Amino acid sequence: MKKIQMVDLISQYEKIQKEVDTAVLNVIRSSQYINGPEVKEFTKELEEYLDVNHVIPCANGTDALQISMMALDLQPGDEVITANFTYVATAEVIALLRLKPVLVDVCPDTFDIDIQAIERAITPKTKAIVPVHLFGQAANMEAIMEIARKNKLYVVEDTAQAIGCDYTFNSGKNQKVGTIGTIGCTSFFPSKNLGCYGDGGAIFTNDDALAIKIKQIANHGQSKQYIHDKVGVNSRLDSIQAAILRIKLRQLDLYSKLRRNTADFYDKAFANHPKVKTPKRVSFSNHVFHQYTLQLIDVDRDKMRSHLSEKGIPAMIYYPIPLHLQEAYSDPRYSKGDFPVTEKLCKTVISLPMQTELDTEQLHYITQNVLDFLNH
Ligand SMILES: *Cc1c(COP(=O)(O)O)cnc(C)c1O
Repeated sequence: MKKIQMVDLISQYEKIQKEVDTAVLNVIRSSQYINGPEVKEFTKELEEYLDVNHVIPCANGTDALQISMMALDLQPGDEVITANFTYVATAEVIALLRLKPVLVDVCPDTFDIDIQAIERAITPKTKAIVPVHLFGQAANMEAIMEIARKNKLYVVEDTAQAIGCDYTFNSGKNQKVGTIGTIGCTSFFPSKNLGCYGDGGAIFTNDDALAIKIKQIANHGQSKQYIHDKVGVNSRLDSIQAAILRIKLRQLDLYSKLRRNTADFYDKAFANHPKVKTPKRVSFSNHVFHQYTLQLIDVDRDKMRSHLSEKGIPAMIYYPIPLHLQEAYSDPRYSKGDFPVTEKLCKTVISLPMQTELDTEQLHYITQNVLDFLNH
């Protein structure tokens, strides 16, 4: 049996190796390393794939979030609502820009931001909501957009874990996540669903004026060469990464399908087991399974992890500590116990290997060992 990994980037690469090697060598031989034709082509292809007017590539997902907030002209002290149960980057950029992160709890079944908690958190100072499509399934965007309309708020979608995921509105209309809010952000970190071989990110919007602003901010606030209208940053996707991403974008729907197949296998193996809760699938979104995350019921998680590790099965905890209990984000507004769902999830979740290269033999081995532990 092949060694089991959380993410197997080597086997994935081997399937597209010829194409990738040629594309990378072509960029090197062209010497157009920055903003070369590959970047322009990838941008166009991603716009088509997402069916969005503008894709602005940048250096990573965290930059994508930061540049988005800068483009919205938010002022120090403005409040931005986001989920407590997320990767730190989401709240980090809010704090970095001296905006006020307002954390809200998530739903116990889906891990996604709680709509009622958003409504309760709105004050006259609230300017934006940042939903995170955590683990690859959409937050309830229809409800979020309705709240945003009513309260005149921006919506910045953190799509770092859910690129390719389809959202279905009540009307039956389908739209890619990341293209529904004012702005969408994603990351091409290697282990993300659409990952490059280094760092990368992108920003999406349908708003023409915002797109111009975002492009300027990502390029030193420059409107014309050597004309700087605002303070910006330097954030670029390099041509080699763009060339790789063009090839991998063509595989993205296949990758999503392979991830879903793996999730189906896990779901079946653990269905109705009294000691685990499998991830819920919602009606308004398909799932691209960035992670497959179980909730454990009366199970010693550390013991389970070391048992699996002894059997050669990696498992990870996303995320072990809620943001409000992190030193950097501690705040007199919040104390232990304020976010019961997030706090419980941090203690009970465990993510199993999820990637595009797991075979049936490995999946049988993983599920059998998990069940052996749960049933001992
Ligand atoms: C990965 C990730 C980011 C940050 O992306 P980087 O490219 O690593 O900067 C932001 N938000 C979420 C939810 C992520 O998973």
